Amino acid sequence: MKQRKIAIIGAGLVGSLLGIFLAKRGHQVFVFEWRPDMRKQSLQAGRSINLALSDRGLSALNEVGIKDEILNIAIPMPGRLIHNLDGQMNFQPYGKEGQAIYSVSRSELNIRLVNIAESLGIRFQFEKKCTAINWQTNEISFNEPNQPGHENFQAEIIFGADGAYAASRLQHMLGHQKFDYHQHYIDCGYKELSVPAGPRGSFLLKKNALHIWPRKEYMLIALPNLDGSFTGTLFFPFSGEQSFEKLISPEAVQYFFKKEFPGIADLIPDLTDQFFNNPTSSLVTVQCYPWVRDGKFSLIGDAAHALVPFFGQGMNCGFEDCLVLNQLMDKFPDQWDEILENFQQLRKPDADAIADMAINNFVEMRSKTADPVFLLQKKIEARLHDKFPDKWIPSYSLVTFSTQIRYSEALARGNKQEAIMLEFMKTDNIAERWDDHDLHMEIINKVD
Ligand SMILES: Cc1cc2nc3c(=O)[nH]c(=O)nc-3n(C[C@H](O)[C@H](O)[C@H](O)COP(=O)(O)OP(=O)(O)OC[C@H]3O[C@@H](n4cnc5c(N)ncnc54)[C@H](O)[C@@H]3O)c2cc1C
Repeated sequence: MKQRKIAIIGAGLVGSLLGIFLAKRGHQVFVFEWRPDMRKQSLQAGRSINLALSDRGLSALNEVGIKDEILNIAIPMPGRLIHNLDGQMNFQPYGKEGQAIYSVSRSELNIRLVNIAESLGIRFQFEKKCTAINWQTNEISFNEPNQPGHENFQAEIIFGADGAYAASRLQHMLGHQKFDYHQHYIDCGYKELSVPAGPRGSFLLKKNALHIWPRKEYMLIALPNLDGSFTGTLFFPFSGEQSFEKLISPEAVQYFFKKEFPGIADLIPDLTDQFFNNPTSSLVTVQCYPWVRDGKFSLIGDAAHALVPFFGQGMNCGFEDCLVLNQLMDKFPDQWDEILENFQQLRKPDADAIADMAINNFVEMRSKTADPVFLLQKKIEARLHDKFPDKWIPSYSLVTFSTQIRYSEALARGNKQEAIMLEFMKTDNIAERWDDHDLHMEIINKVD
């Protein structure tokens, strides 16, 4: 196999993992990152502090032999713990016994990936901001902070892994006649709030769970960190009656938290400081096409498909991109036209599907997780999955625990199952009949 000189723009989660896949195949890989070396400085405010890693991401990490190393720094979350307004809690398992998603620190994960990549001979260059790409000469131009002029770097193949606001995508778009581009901001933003650890690093909330305080139009979630702290994220409208624009005084913030999220305000002694000092960030979906140019360039990860975070799949989807690309490198050895064309053909429908599901899951998380009818439906679906594991896989499991099922297939199957369930939820006495075998058979017979 011919060794290629490959440049990756962006040393985020996806760029770093992609580098590992490429270096393991013997390519000469160079990664250029706008920000300073993350190993030498603290995480930039406003980027999520921890993330949920799940089977699709883990399967990519496994392929390059680093799954166990990453799981060592992750906390399993086998379900979500719902905090109702009256203080009652309700644990909802995500899947079957033994299945979990994993809370991992973004910076710790990124640093591990960069270290592993460097150990494979990849050269990382930090504080190099991509500003232009010359498609004739295959040269990337970079600016360095406080330096006049720019530097160029030529590569045979270039990957744009520079995130949701990718400069590489803009360059690609400007140099393309028919580039489809769609971006959509939801009307909610998010703010991160740290819940400190208790005495001697103890966890003040249940450790092994993703906590959700669903409040219909908004919600608070919290994921555990290894040091006993939790990272809370408030997803909240930018404007309106209950919104960021209304919470403008410390008293208003305290009152709102005490009323809406009882118990939490007491766990965050500097709540108002954090609230006013931490940024309020927006949430965007980005869809575009084509991702690829002349067998020499491809977008990947958020640069190709930024998602809202409500299915916890953005990074997982980007990691799965790397896995699919790797499979195509096996299938079409050194035929980069074929590799990249097949990559976009395969991944674009999947990226679109998970983008839709991520938006829909916001509604589920913030408003349905506390709804008794929804909970009953989920209980029936869990029973169906137990009894007919191949025929009925709940939507969440199709996305999160089913690595052999493409996102586009998960969306289609999930929609079909949802339509069937909505019909059956109208059955008389459904609450009493939820475990009735005849009812289960009727539902299952609708699937084929
Ligand atoms: C609040 C929130 C919560 C999330 N939770 C989850 C979750 O639980 N699970 C999950 O799977 N996903 C989650 N995501 C999504 C996840 O963060 C992204 O999908 C993931 O970070 C994408 O990785 P990436 O490498 O493609 O992009 P990024 O992580 O954004 O990395 C891009 C890199 O490119 C660099 N860069 C940018 N511009 C340039 C330039 N011009 N030149 C050079 N370098 C450049 C950036 O500095 C950055 O390091 C969440 C996102 C948010 C916002």
